[in-house]
Amino acid sequence: KARGGNRYELADPDSDARTISRHMLTTHLPAALEKEEFFIEYQPLVRMDDGSVEGAEALVRWAHPRHGVLGPDRFIPLAEHTGLIVPLGRWVLEQAVRQACEWQVRGIGGARPLRVNVNLSPRQLRHPELVSETVTILESAGLAPSSLCLEVTESALIRADDDELKPLRQLADLGVRIALDDFGTGYSNLASLRRLPASTLKLDRSFTRGLQRHPADPVDLKVVEGIVSLAHALDLAVTVEGVETAVQAEQLRELGCDSAQGWYYARPGPPESLGCALPMAAGQ
Ligand code: C2E
Ligand code: CA
Ligand code: CA
Ligand code: CA
Repeated sequence: KARGGNRYELADPDSDARTISRHMLTTHLPAALEKEEFFIEYQPLVRMDDGSVEGAEALVRWAHPRHGVLGPDRFIPLAEHTGLIVPLGRWVLEQAVRQACEWQVRGIGGARPLRVNVNLSPRQLRHPELVSETVTILESAGLAPSSLCLEVTESALIRADDDELKPLRQLADLGVRIALDDFGTGYSNLASLRRLPASTLKLDRSFTRGLQRHPADPVDLKVVEGIVSLAHALDLAVTVEGVETAVQAEQLRELGCDSAQGWYYARPGPPESLGCALPMAAGQ
């Protein structure tokens, strides 16, 4: 207003970034990968029984030279659309696997080796080299397949037919863990859960929100309780997302959830926040 005229200015400090055009992001994505403008933050996954860290989820960010750090919601859908998610996803997997190795070599996590969780988009799931590339990445880093967990959204998995599930089955047979991400948002029918090669169900943040208040919403409590017992009956571990308060954490522990992730424990951060950093290899 102070500047007069017919101009609008948004108070949101992000407004500049919000107006970056789709087109611009899309055209800059490939070069950004080459220029190594992406980086990964890790968010710990905490065991509910003893509070120890079982692993961390790799979350990619784009350090845009002009617009600052962009969250994945700003560019993953575009990368998925253009296909750049395949090389970008491969890069994330490579970095995360090497990082997990580094944690293990340094003994972070104690007796039980730390695991790393990596998000896999639908397009990567359909990529013919998914299995062979993943195996190569694990082998060249020297990471046990059981130390990697691939997170696939419930909606992507539910829509997948048997052919599309085959690579995931192969990876699961090799020992790689598969997590059903954002569970509860994809309307799976319960029977279809049985055909998925998943070992873990990640309960979406929308379910944990109602447990922030004390006393918690009784319906939300029942729903989470039901999902946990169903998951356990199917031999799936339950990880809850978006735990922000001590009250939530305590309720979810009482409901039998196995592990949790959220700001209450830690925000996503650099690999050092879990104990050590990945040293840059010479020439990188
Ligand atoms: P997601 O897989 O559901 O990841 C969890 C998101 O919740 C992350 O957002 C994380 O920062 C946020 N979060 C964690 N704890 C809390 C909490 O206590 N409260 C709240 N309000 N939020 C919390 P982020 O990092 O912005 O990532 C957004 C989405 O982008 C991810 O959702 C995932 O679907 C996607 N994504 C991130 N990295 C990758 C990647 O490397 N590849 C692919 N394909 N997708 C990725
Ligand atoms: Ca995820
Ligand atoms: Ca999720
Ligand atoms: Ca989510």
